[in-house]
Amino acid sequence: MKTKRKAAVKANKTNSSNGSMVDISLKFDEGWSYSPAPESTDHVSIKERYGLFIGGKFVKPALGKYFATINPATEKKISEVANASSADVDKAVKAARKAFGPWSSLPARERGKYVYRISRMMQEKARELAVIESMDGGKAIREARDIDIPLAAAHFFYYAGWADKLDYAFPNKKPTPLGVAGQIIPWNFPLLMAAWKIAPAIAAGNTVVLKSAETTPLTSMKLAEIIQEAGLPDGVVNIITGAGDTGAALVNHPDIDKIAFTGSTGVGKIIQNAIAGTDKKVTLELGGKAANIILDDAPLDQAVEGIINGIYFNQGHVCCAGSRLFVQEDVADTVIRKLKDRMQTLIVGDPLDKNTDIGAINSKEQLATINRYIKIGKNEGADFYQSKCKIPNKGYWCPPTLFLNVSQSHRIAQEEIFGPVLAVQTFRTVDEVIEKANNTPYGLSAGIWTDKGSKIFNITAKLNAGVIWANTYNKFDPTSPFGGYKESGFGREGGLPGLQAYLNLG
Ligand code: ADP
Repeated sequence: MKTKRKAAVKANKTNSSNGSMVDISLKFDEGWSYSPAPESTDHVSIKERYGLFIGGKFVKPALGKYFATINPATEKKISEVANASSADVDKAVKAARKAFGPWSSLPARERGKYVYRISRMMQEKARELAVIESMDGGKAIREARDIDIPLAAAHFFYYAGWADKLDYAFPNKKPTPLGVAGQIIPWNFPLLMAAWKIAPAIAAGNTVVLKSAETTPLTSMKLAEIIQEAGLPDGVVNIITGAGDTGAALVNHPDIDKIAFTGSTGVGKIIQNAIAGTDKKVTLELGGKAANIILDDAPLDQAVEGIINGIYFNQGHVCCAGSRLFVQEDVADTVIRKLKDRMQTLIVGDPLDKNTDIGAINSKEQLATINRYIKIGKNEGADFYQSKCKIPNKGYWCPPTLFLNVSQSHRIAQEEIFGPVLAVQTFRTVDEVIEKANNTPYGLSAGIWTDKGSKIFNITAKLNAGVIWANTYNKFDPTSPFGGYKESGFGREGGLPGLQAYLNLG
């Protein structure tokens, strides 16, 4: 089957030399066909069933329960993973506790070597990891290959470098590890989130129990295999699978020193309640509803690329997605026209096809949530627009979507949708957009597009957001801290603040 990349403009006609009318414009609703370019899967090895990675071995779950992980693009089962009970969580925490003494007293240089080794092995297996990430979670192979996996390896590489330099990272302090960290990750960037959590923790001398998300456990199992092959001492990293109950058992385990959580604000609140009154340390990276602000002096074509990347990257399953677009009124018509044209060129479909821009929605449940919000947006009276793309018959899909004429009080402008749905508003003055952008319970990220550095400094200083991109969007780097304000959580991951989150500074 050929994928149609729809291109170019409506009939803008002009006179040719012989007096007839010639169509000079690009057409966005017909045209370029792309032959399929599927990434092969024959190099990938996935077991039929995975146990829990505890104490350096894959072990059976205590209650013998497993659950299936499916490919959201085909709805076919890929493999089965263990459903860890509280007995398994206890076993994993005990393994981590046992490993903590020897690991934290190992010469830091030796610790660093292990972390480097994990990074190198991830790079060696990058192609396999990318394909599995795409199959298990639905993300486009182009993104898994070019963003998720290289960044995950880069995090291990970066923190490996800090392992024996903690005294320089925090001068005049006596940094010591916290102990055993319980880490819970979501399904949108499975391997990358595992790297964000594990790399700084073990480089700083902690040991960990990590729980992957229920719909995307497979790359964490591959990471467990890498860790085993790297010869990391048993119990330093334990990786378990399961759903919310397993996560709750980890949070509530009395021998955990630190909880690091990335996920929804709702679960973040449950976790904060659960640990109140204990001396567990915690970092929470929660939801977002970022403002992406386009001023009238912005380079508009680049800004349109930034809008597309901001909201449609990873099917919009991104906590820092630029899901609220604010366009200055005098350029709004132009920006919306260009945006709609660009949306029409996005290829939605087989995540393993290298042409694909937008893959499958991660799960049936998430698709239902997105569709519920689309209905809410229509009922609220916003103008609905969706690209006219073909979507496969099987699997979970949502074409790139936007709503115009959105008002501040609309739920689609206030609540996190976590899908490829953009809420567009306009503004006239800088003060107005700052007020509108900050009118949200969240404060994770924002974007600003303008030609003037002075406007960037003025606006970014007044936005309540942990990460603000200027004339770009969704750029990540291991050296750069990431985290939020307000209901987007607290604590930072990445950079030195991400290392500090796993240390007592004495
Ligand atoms: P999402 O809505 O994006 O699925 P969640 O916050 O529900 O995000 O899930 C993120 C992670 O939190 C997953 O690994 C999930 O299993 C875990 N989780 C869900 N409920 C709880 C809970 N009550 N305590 C701890 N972890 C939980």
